Amino acid sequence: MRYIRGFRDGDVAASLAQLIRAEVDPARDYHLMEFCGGHTHAIFRYGVEDLLPRNLRLVHGPGCPVCVLAMPRLNAAIDLALEPDVTFVSYGDMLRVPASRGRSLLKARAQGADVRMVYSALETLDIAETHPDRQIVFFAIGFETTTPATAHLILEAHRRGLRNLSVYCNHVVTPAAIQSILDSPGENDSPQVRIDGFIGPSHVSAVIGSAPYEAFAQSYGKPVVIAGFEPLDVMQAVYMLVQQINDGRACIENQFTRGVSREGNSKAQALVAEVFELRPSFEWRGLGELAHSAMRIRAAYEDHDAESRFDMKEAPVRENAACQCPSIIRGMKKPVDCTIFGTLCTPRSPIGSCMVSSEGVCAAYYKYGRTKTALALAADGRGLSA
Ligand code: SF4
Repeated sequence: MRYIRGFRDGDVAASLAQLIRAEVDPARDYHLMEFCGGHTHAIFRYGVEDLLPRNLRLVHGPGCPVCVLAMPRLNAAIDLALEPDVTFVSYGDMLRVPASRGRSLLKARAQGADVRMVYSALETLDIAETHPDRQIVFFAIGFETTTPATAHLILEAHRRGLRNLSVYCNHVVTPAAIQSILDSPGENDSPQVRIDGFIGPSHVSAVIGSAPYEAFAQSYGKPVVIAGFEPLDVMQAVYMLVQQINDGRACIENQFTRGVSREGNSKAQALVAEVFELRPSFEWRGLGELAHSAMRIRAAYEDHDAESRFDMKEAPVRENAACQCPSIIRGMKKPVDCTIFGTLCTPRSPIGSCMVSSEGVCAAYYKYGRTKTALALAADGRGLSA
């Protein structure tokens, strides 16, 4: 606990805020995207935005695994969970995410589906061993942080000969999403969302290393600073980005040296490479179809691939017209742009995925009562879409 407290020290935060204010050029503005929802929550929880100069705007990115899961795949998951011989295993965040026609995994459970929540993918092994007469399906979601754990689950199921255990794989990759944002032509012919630099996710980068971001500096001229999830981590990353932008530099810097190296975790990477390969294309909520942006299970482990074992159908669906999640995920809008934020859509009765997840932007705005602040920022042109 003492170790964490050092990264939340108010006096140090005040000093860092002074440094940032001194570094920021009042004659220009800065648009920095924090890719990950974990950063978004740290920013709101500790009021980081309030400490920053008005001409420095934080843009919230798509790094929330629950938020970016495309509705057709969630519908397919719910259909599978409703099969009488299936036990469907999921992380808790996914249970309440609204699918088409007001469905969710939680409601499927109320209808009699055997849907279970786990904290670790490996808990699925015990469930499969205890229920050999049932088909046990693990709903695998997440960025590179959670992919090694799913690889471990599949290898262990294979080793134990658990033929009744399969995985519905929805693991996605971070660099593809960043590239999509940089390549995005904008929405409804509006200009592309402006981003001068990225705060990169430390947990993802602990696995993949900092090297995969180098193309964004080299090809797009965008600096990336990989940062931890404590408030002082985020503030130091902001300071480092502002320095790079002012100097006209674009390189990859690592604020989170206590956990991230350029090469990443080679053991975790080897596990992932053994079990998974890149899909040619994958649909993301808000970002659309992105080439080489998600993992699928290799043919050698096909026995544990739910998409091979079951006839899973992904019918196209229409998003709820009021929900602005797709635009929020792309950094084009903020929750206060949504007319039903905090009224019809709340964490108790979410309409969109961004209000459900512990990493969702709408959930962060609501949970930390930032609505008034966001409206004030919007009034001076800092809070709304670029
Ligand atoms: S407030 Fe609710 S409905 Fe609106 S964008 Fe956020 S999740 Fe979607």
